[in-house]
Amino acid sequence: MIFILNLISILIQAQKIAIIGCGIGGATLAQLLPSATVYESYYQCGGRINHVLIPGLNAVEFGATFFIKQNEYVQKQIEKRNLEIYKRDLGKLAVIKNKQIVLQKTDLDVINIVKMVYKYGLSPKRMKDITDEVLINFKSIYTFLESGQYYHNFNEFLQIIKLNDIKMNFTEFLNENEIDQQFQEEFVDAILLAIYNQKDVNTIAGLISMVAAFNDAYSIKGGNRQLIDEEKINVIHSKVDIIHRLKNGKYKIFNDQYDYVVVASLVNLDISFDNIREMNQFQYVKYQSTYVYIVAGKISQKYIGVNPEDLNTIVILDDGEVTELKQECLKCFSGWNIYKVQGRSELKLDQIFETHQIIHKKVWDAAYPQLSQNLLNTEFEYEKNFFYLNSIESLASCMEFMMIQAKNIANIIKERHNQMIHEDL
Ligand SMILES: Cc1cc2nc3c(=O)[nH]c(=O)nc-3n(C[C@H](O)[C@H](O)[C@H](O)COP(=O)(O)OP(=O)(O)OC[C@H]3O[C@@H](n4cnc5c(N)ncnc54)[C@H](O)[C@@H]3O)c2cc1C
Repeated sequence: MIFILNLISILIQAQKIAIIGCGIGGATLAQLLPSATVYESYYQCGGRINHVLIPGLNAVEFGATFFIKQNEYVQKQIEKRNLEIYKRDLGKLAVIKNKQIVLQKTDLDVINIVKMVYKYGLSPKRMKDITDEVLINFKSIYTFLESGQYYHNFNEFLQIIKLNDIKMNFTEFLNENEIDQQFQEEFVDAILLAIYNQKDVNTIAGLISMVAAFNDAYSIKGGNRQLIDEEKINVIHSKVDIIHRLKNGKYKIFNDQYDYVVVASLVNLDISFDNIREMNQFQYVKYQSTYVYIVAGKISQKYIGVNPEDLNTIVILDDGEVTELKQECLKCFSGWNIYKVQGRSELKLDQIFETHQIIHKKVWDAAYPQLSQNLLNTEFEYEKNFFYLNSIESLASCMEFMMIQAKNIANIIKERHNQMIHEDL
């Protein structure tokens, strides 16, 4: 009888959880906390993971594209959902600066190494050693989170992955580690611009980008959005305009009250917060816009300086602007080649292509935060039981980081919930 009474009391007091946003962060959290309600303004989940389907081709991603095999949470979801992955061929890369090829990397590793050592000395090897060490240390976060523990702020997170004493910007870090200046300008900058569309970044984002550059990249056949199991998530497709903190400590969204709220989207002027410490400040964080075009066409050899069909990735650096062209396939679309083209603003495709047709265009106004901003000391719990999941993006923005942050918040909520049940019993 006592047991039944307790059970009833637990059921009555069942904690209500709201998640705002059904991108990879919100969706991962919802999969870990199945009773949560997710509010999503778009008609489908995925957020910054999305693709177009072109007959006969793998899904062409116009948001998050790559992951590496060491991304354990992405891998876990792939295995759980029985998804198939494929390796992205990034081998043949050219960096073009002021119409001159400054770096051309072929598929043949031995030739690459000899060429790179000749040009940049030991810097590429030193950089690779640093990224290997980052990957080894990063593994500790999985052991930590899988044992049910959680970090309270990002300093603790950085301590676990042994990057806590790095507070400087990436250029300072590279100089301190004696990375050759020319290697920084021709290789590191090209990678940073290709990944984050910006080169003045913090050291964490810089190192994460270098890890990606020195390891094989993969995507999921049929689209990375399958990392999200939408059928298992309780989604309401509505845009949340305001979240109120009430006197009883609960949070009001539309007409419902919640014990926990997790904002799992970048905060901009679209959403406001009533009586929630500092959250409105995030509306003034600067974001990097990114223009993505999926194009069928023929790149101008005159413009590039070499046969573009011999290259998988072309990065054009011109007066602080960057254009990145990724070859998706050759002669696959009624005899045309397909490219993904990315830049910071509207691109002059007529100059780059001899002939072209835009298949899809997406403007991400807020692709990532501007990573030069010093936001390293940010917390992510701004009021008791109110979490801003995406504040981790001030360190670096990638699918794996969002999944790690989701797992961490799930551990916190589960522990508080268990404590409450214990107190209740
Ligand atoms: C062009 C581009 C390329 C990228 N490439 C890579 C890559 O190769 N590899 C990688 O790992 N990462 C990459 N990223 C980064 C990666 O996409 C993000 O880090 C990650 O997808 C963010 O997931 P999220 O769930 O935190 O946020 P989001 O994906 O932004 O999801 C937030 C969701 O919240 C919803 N929403 C927003 N406001 C409200 C509201 N008021 N009410 C209700 N719903 C709301 C949105 O509609 C959205 O669905 C890339 C990003 C971009 C833009």
